[in-house]
Amino acid sequence: DPAPTLLDGNAIADRTHDDLASSVDALRDAGVTPTVALVSMTESGAGRTHVSMRQQACSEVGIRCWVCEIDPRQPAASLFDRLAELNDDPAVHGVSVQSPLPDHVDRRAAARRIHPSKDVAATHPENLGRLFAGAPRYTPPTPAGIRRLLDAYGIDTAGKRAVVVGRSETVGRPMATLLSGRGPGGDATTTVCHSRTENLARVTRSAEILVVAAGRPELVDAEMLSEGVVVVDVGINRVDAGAAAGGQVVGDVDFESAAEKAAAITPVPSGVGPLTVAMLLSNTVDAASRHSGVDVDL
Ligand code: NDP
Repeated sequence: DPAPTLLDGNAIADRTHDDLASSVDALRDAGVTPTVALVSMTESGAGRTHVSMRQQACSEVGIRCWVCEIDPRQPAASLFDRLAELNDDPAVHGVSVQSPLPDHVDRRAAARRIHPSKDVAATHPENLGRLFAGAPRYTPPTPAGIRRLLDAYGIDTAGKRAVVVGRSETVGRPMATLLSGRGPGGDATTTVCHSRTENLARVTRSAEILVVAAGRPELVDAEMLSEGVVVVDVGINRVDAGAAAGGQVVGDVDFESAAEKAAAITPVPSGVGPLTVAMLLSNTVDAASRHSGVDVDL
């Protein structure tokens, strides 16, 4: 079999950043500096990496990025108070609470404290509800990024059998909502799997498009795939590769094995991750445009 097409998230994210930079220029010319606040309540290395990747991308595009760090030993009220301040600050267009949160802070409670008009990660129930109701305000960045990646490689979803592994509110379920919805990037016959799914391999083998967002290192291998499938690996799992190596990042798919069957596949890293960041930025530019009334292309 020929080698599969590598779905290069970095390349498509770079292209997206270039387009966003011109929209940001147009806003700045009108006196508006798109601004996003990243609220972080963790001291974990993973959390810090997430924040610095977003900062870097913002600076490439010309978005102002405020990082608000809250001591993870503080009560949830400290986070909620900070979110209230950001909601009230007219200079801030987008607010995103970074994962992970400490155990004593409920993720859903935090999401409800972000004003829906500034909820650029689309975690507030109003924005999830709007997506489901076919009138999205902001589309969750990871599913939006996957849609953009498939579109960039000319992968048509209409009429295809799509399988999504994972049912989280940030990835699995909104992904399934897009794939099963009407129109471009949708119209797929879509199945959602989760930890209670029986005989996962039988379901994944039925997929022509497979999106895996389970957070389980190398859950999916060639045995679970049909020939010619398009594989999108969302997983970011840090596994120990010996103390000296300081750990390594692997996806939810065993890449080497899956590449034997797939027609196209995302690498980890440099697959879905960069697109997630790019779409968070895109939503921020959208938010700045909505708040200011200055129209831009997105
Ligand atoms: P969650 O932990 O919120 O959800 C994981 C989902 O996978 C759950 O629905 C769970 O089922 C299901 N699941 C777990 N184990 C299995 C299994 N063995 N078989 C089938 N289903 C299973 O994770 P997220 O959706 O937030 O993230 C998933 C992964 O994607 C993580 O590795 C995360 O780090 C990564 N991620 C990457 C992003 C990117 O930009 N590339 C962005 C966001 C996340 P159940 O509901 O029954 O528990």
